[in-house]
Amino acid sequence: ILQVSSKMKSNSAWYSASSFSSSVPTVKLFIDGKFVESKSDKWIDIHNPATNEVIGRVPQATKAEMDAAIASCKRAFPAWADTSVLSRQQVLLRYQQLIKENLKEIAKLITLEQGKTLADAEGDVFRGLQVVEHACSVTSLMMGETMPSITKDMDLYSYRLPLGVCAGIAPFNFPAMIPLWMFPMAMVCGNTFLMKPSERVPGATMLLAKLLQDSGAPDGTLNIIHGQHEAVNFICDHPDIKAISFVGSNKAGEYIFERGSRHGKRVQANMGAKNHGVVMPDANKENTLNQLVGAAFGAAGQRCMALSTAVLVGEAKKWLPELVERAKNLRVNAGDQPGADLGPLITPQAKERVCNLIDSGTKEGASILLDGRKIKVKGYENGNFVGPTIISNVKPNMTCYKEEIFGPVLVVLETETLDEAIQIVNNNPYGNGTAIFTTNGATARKYAHLVDVGQVGVNVPIPVPLPMFSFTGSRSSFRGDTNFYGKQGIQFYTQLKTITSQWKEEDATLSSPAVVMPT
Ligand code: NAD
Repeated sequence: ILQVSSKMKSNSAWYSASSFSSSVPTVKLFIDGKFVESKSDKWIDIHNPATNEVIGRVPQATKAEMDAAIASCKRAFPAWADTSVLSRQQVLLRYQQLIKENLKEIAKLITLEQGKTLADAEGDVFRGLQVVEHACSVTSLMMGETMPSITKDMDLYSYRLPLGVCAGIAPFNFPAMIPLWMFPMAMVCGNTFLMKPSERVPGATMLLAKLLQDSGAPDGTLNIIHGQHEAVNFICDHPDIKAISFVGSNKAGEYIFERGSRHGKRVQANMGAKNHGVVMPDANKENTLNQLVGAAFGAAGQRCMALSTAVLVGEAKKWLPELVERAKNLRVNAGDQPGADLGPLITPQAKERVCNLIDSGTKEGASILLDGRKIKVKGYENGNFVGPTIISNVKPNMTCYKEEIFGPVLVVLETETLDEAIQIVNNNPYGNGTAIFTTNGATARKYAHLVDVGQVGVNVPIPVPLPMFSFTGSRSSFRGDTNFYGKQGIQFYTQLKTITSQWKEEDATLSSPAVVMPT
């Protein structure tokens, strides 16, 4: 980690030795094709979550800097929208190659700032890369529709056209994948983009911006600002921004959805979750227990698709002791350490919140079968570590069930029947993801059809759709009506224009005004 950190200090265009304060590197803004030092007097520390060392500082961009970023996006838009779709595709084709070549470097930055294991960080980049690859299909994805001869000599056809300047606001938990859900899809359609990464993990986005520039994206097509509330309000209110993509918590997402919509923008907001894994007694036990443990505790539970709630149906409740044994075997360590299965939580505050939610389980009558609150990681005593935790006897009215924990905590409920399990899942306000584990096709089919959740896995614990589909979380996990990536992503970032056209060979002059609605 230290090696990456010192390398970044000396070599990187996105961090620079700061004149602002001592030797802590600062994150630059990316404005009009240049990595520039902010003039802000408000800075936020970036910590390595495994040590809590300050590894950098990110500015809260000033109003003038944010204005400059938007002006740059706006200036670049007409030429970029007019660039042939094949040329835009070429930029993205080069981009996917450069991301592949730099995948490990991006992953190291993610582990340094976010804490997840290196292998998991590579997965983070890889899942974003798949969206870039998907964006390369723009030449078919952006096609409009045609209908010839809707009446004599008249044809009807539509174009999909870019909107203008779009913006993205990203969370901390997938520093590469989530920004890559946003700007590549928007830009390949001919939009220009203003990105605000999470202030806790800006590094990956900065490196991704550099690679995009190296791929040939013209100056101004992507601009990056940093900050928190002021930057978010700026994006929600600015009249030149036509659409906002947000991923993060419900608190921020609902606020941004409402404020952005009030200003007439399209907003898509992917938000929090409480994902249930329903375990039927006929499931393949070995497979199911491994899937549950991986999906509950991987990335220290800091995934919106983490399978954080198990519903054991009937005899499956007898598997609980084995589930605990498997979870105990996971290795908690700094993300860059060989063999680590899960790393730290993002901040000391996140750790405290998770521990308080575990405490609430005890107070409200649940049983802690495995307790990760007091874990110590040798050599990383100051890190924000929580070990795998399993809470059983959980009831739907308990705080640890109602809140999204966002930590390595699995809450376990029990039911006698599948119908009861479905009822529990459907009564939960979130609809991001769910999974059923069974060897019975009819049971799986019934679950998939009756459960009111946007993404369902059958013997697949984290059913995040590949980018030729869309990410379709529902109910309280999503606001908006057009999802991220896939055909819906293209729809979100484009406006349809429909053309009705008449060309007659003979003289088409009307002999009198056509005052009646044409039929
Ligand atoms: P967050 O909401 O705290 O931050 C997300 C972004 O919003 C950041 O850029 C931040 O600067 C900004 N922000 C934070 N608080 C704000 C506020 N009060 N007003 C305006 N802007 C604000 O989220 P996070 O902690 O970075 O990410 C974790 C959350 O994201 C979890 O709830 C997780 O489920 C969710 N998430 C959802 C998905 C999905 O696709 N559904 C994917 C990843 C993460």
